[in-house]
Amino acid sequence: MDELSHLIVEENGKIFGEAKAEIEKSIELTEFACAMPQLVGEEVLEVSKGVECRIERHPVGVVASIVPFNFPSMVPHWTIPNALVLGNTMVIKPSEKVPLSMLKIAELLSQAGLPKGVFNIVNGDKEVVEAICDHPDIKAVSFVGSTKIAKLVYQRGTANYKRVLALGGAKNHLIVLPDANLKMTASNVVASVTGCAGQRCMAASAMVAVGKSDHIIEAICEEAKKLKVGKDIGAIISKESKERIERYITQAEQQGANVLVDGRNASVPGCENGYYVGPTVIDNVTPDMAIAKEEVFGPVLSIMRSKDITEALNIENGNEYGNAAAVFTQNGGAARQVIDRASAGMIGVNIGVPVPREPFSFGGWNESKFGALDITGKSSIEFWTQLKKVTTKWNAEAGINWMS
Ligand code: NAD
Repeated sequence: MDELSHLIVEENGKIFGEAKAEIEKSIELTEFACAMPQLVGEEVLEVSKGVECRIERHPVGVVASIVPFNFPSMVPHWTIPNALVLGNTMVIKPSEKVPLSMLKIAELLSQAGLPKGVFNIVNGDKEVVEAICDHPDIKAVSFVGSTKIAKLVYQRGTANYKRVLALGGAKNHLIVLPDANLKMTASNVVASVTGCAGQRCMAASAMVAVGKSDHIIEAICEEAKKLKVGKDIGAIISKESKERIERYITQAEQQGANVLVDGRNASVPGCENGYYVGPTVIDNVTPDMAIAKEEVFGPVLSIMRSKDITEALNIENGNEYGNAAAVFTQNGGAARQVIDRASAGMIGVNIGVPVPREPFSFGGWNESKFGALDITGKSSIEFWTQLKKVTTKWNAEAGINWMS
């Protein structure tokens, strides 16, 4: 556990506790895959006297998994265990920014007795991804990364007649009502915004404060200010990413938003050249600003104001992404309204990071996912298998011979 977690810290820059949580989640995903024999039982039905129809699940064949930088172990474990236990062989392409964990995973799979050739790593970036999309022997491609590349992979893979599931970026909205439990809401919101330094597709990025919610915004700011950069919040993946995040904050400020907690120019003693951004809370953001529309992928919360839930939902619905959305309230009817109308694949009620646990599946809507099905849980069984429908008749003398 410690060795794998340290490897993630070294290559990704997240804090040790987050890296360890990633390994724990990888174990959970693998345990789910171990339950596959109970989940993929065959369907058999006698459809006429002596005539039986049966569905068998067969592997798709050689499949590929292309993964991003932000979870060097967890995201690969969305695909590796399920695809392999369902009989496929896999070619995986780690992010060029974090190639170390994958090698260790391969070593462990080999030690566990996986036959040679069942799990393969190809390192690289654009060129390798394009080769995967074009290769005639690869039958299915799963991709997790930004929306721009997800679209390219989806188009190129399906143009080559492969099944493709491509998960993209996110802009997750939290709708916070004035009656929300103050302490729990503030800590949940801040944890969602700042976990993995905001570099996760389930991070809360925009918040719509409904009605008189100033007390909640104050509590969020207090909570955010408690966090120490370098200790509670890890590093940003690259200089370019840090600069991009800070650019969004500066631009929003120039357009009239109020930066209540400012994480720009964060510095960690002993790591002065590190790429850090502190927790940032910005109020009076409007839906037309770039920071409200686009994926920032940093520990930044943009707060918009609305007079009621309908207006809040319109703001959420107006965003092109649709990975997750959450509502914070003590009112069941209001929560139900958000569950019904939010345009996102994963919804949280008083939960800031609503990642479904197995056997429930993971996957967004809109510009956050291309292709049918979800990437984990029961839904993944459909993606990694193809159905063979077998009809048998063992009574040659059957009076009615309609199934000749
Ligand atoms: P990215 O899209 O830059 O890279 C993802 C993968 O695509 C990497 O393996 C990379 O090498 C490859 N790639 C990069 N450029 C390419 C190109 N031009 N052509 C072909 N392949 C290319 O994403 P990232 O920066 O590694 O990860 C962050 C993004 O991933 C964020 O947008 C985040 O929201 C998203 N993400 C989404 C989910 C989800 O479940 N929806 C989960 C994790 C991360």
